[in-house]
Amino acid sequence: MWADAVGKRVTTPEVPSALLATATGASSSTHHDLDGRERLFGFSRTEGFPFVLAYGLDKARVLAQWQSRAVEFALGYAALLASALVAAWYQLTAFRQREAMRASEEHFRMLAENMADIVWRSDAQIRFTYINAADERVRGFSHEEVIGTYLRDNLTPQGQAVLDDVAQKRQAIELTTSKGKALKYELPMRHKAGGEVWVEISSVPVYGSDGRINGYQGVGRDISRRKLQEAQLLASNQQLENQLHKVVEEKSALQELATLDPLTGIYNRRFLDAALPRELARAQRTGQQLAVIMLDLDHFKRVNDQHGHAAGDDVLKALAQLLKTGARDSDLICRYGGEEFVAVMPNMSADQAWERVESWRRQLEVMPVVPTVPAARITLSAGIAVFPGHGDSPAQLLARADEMLYKSKQNGRNRVSVYALT
Ligand code: GH3
Ligand code: MG
Ligand code: MG
Repeated sequence: MWADAVGKRVTTPEVPSALLATATGASSSTHHDLDGRERLFGFSRTEGFPFVLAYGLDKARVLAQWQSRAVEFALGYAALLASALVAAWYQLTAFRQREAMRASEEHFRMLAENMADIVWRSDAQIRFTYINAADERVRGFSHEEVIGTYLRDNLTPQGQAVLDDVAQKRQAIELTTSKGKALKYELPMRHKAGGEVWVEISSVPVYGSDGRINGYQGVGRDISRRKLQEAQLLASNQQLENQLHKVVEEKSALQELATLDPLTGIYNRRFLDAALPRELARAQRTGQQLAVIMLDLDHFKRVNDQHGHAAGDDVLKALAQLLKTGARDSDLICRYGGEEFVAVMPNMSADQAWERVESWRRQLEVMPVVPTVPAARITLSAGIAVFPGHGDSPAQLLARADEMLYKSKQNGRNRVSVYALT
């Protein structure tokens, strides 16, 4: 349609008259309905050319194109704006995070440096990578002297043994569900001035992004004073225990003294009074016999009178020895008083008791008991009563044995009488 129009004259739209009148370049535009569609016309005159350049564009299409461009632009701008906003937001968040981290690190440092407790961090080989000022106050080593050193080298030999133990514990824990748990232990550490400082440490592992331990961190508290008090307490406890032990020993020595006759070293009457009821009750319980024997030296007054009191004492000691050597572990031999002795023999019949006492009597008869007078002859008389046949109480058995002793004296001394045989 446009090819047919070449060379033809159009009436509408009209070239603006102002454009035709001028010879210089200019341009103008208008819109007009030419072919049922509203068109935008542009006219322009280029200087020196004898014609006017005219063009007509479909207004609806142009507007539609403009509209879609405008939408594209708007969308583009919106996307650009959104991404700029997102980037700005990220920047702001990162900045805030960095600020928060810096503030918290500063806070941590301020706290750590002013804390009385030691705060530390190490690498996986437990070499210090950070340590606060408390360490110097507690152990005397400067920060520079400690950073980069192994914890192990800061310990006493005893502390190194504790550390080995802790390392084993840590290894075991890491294989369980308690992995990462804090371990608490007491370490004797070296002091710069020599000697040791006890530090209670609580430590946890620090894991790397691969999940493996890449360091440790923890706190340490100076517990030297507590350790000293513990040691003092232990020492005074030990001292108390020793004293108690001594008191118990002394008490048992005293008790022994209270139950032993000082001259002969055998049991005294006090012991017999306590032991006889016990032995009798045992015999009643077990259904065994119990022999009670009473012995008395014959004419002992004479021994004292003729050979002196010391010689008399020797006789008493010799008799005590004689009675003891013939006795079993279960027999009780006592000095009942003066030159009277009592023997209590569990699980012994009257016949066996008689034989035993007869043997003592015969041995004494021939013994040179008085060292100064070897020819002096000492004899004894005895009486025997046996549970259950001759009595069922300590008093009754003693009385019957005494009765038999009296009988032996009456019958001429140097003899043994048994209650059953009367
Ligand atoms: P009998 O045959 O009748 O028993 O005569 P006896 O002289 O042994 O009798 P008595 O019981 O009258 O004398 C006991 C003596 O034992 C009296 C006392 O001097 C003596 N005596 C008692 N205790 C001790 C002692 O510890 N050491 C000494 N050397 N003699 C003592
Ligand atoms: Mg006598
Ligand atoms: Mg007597």
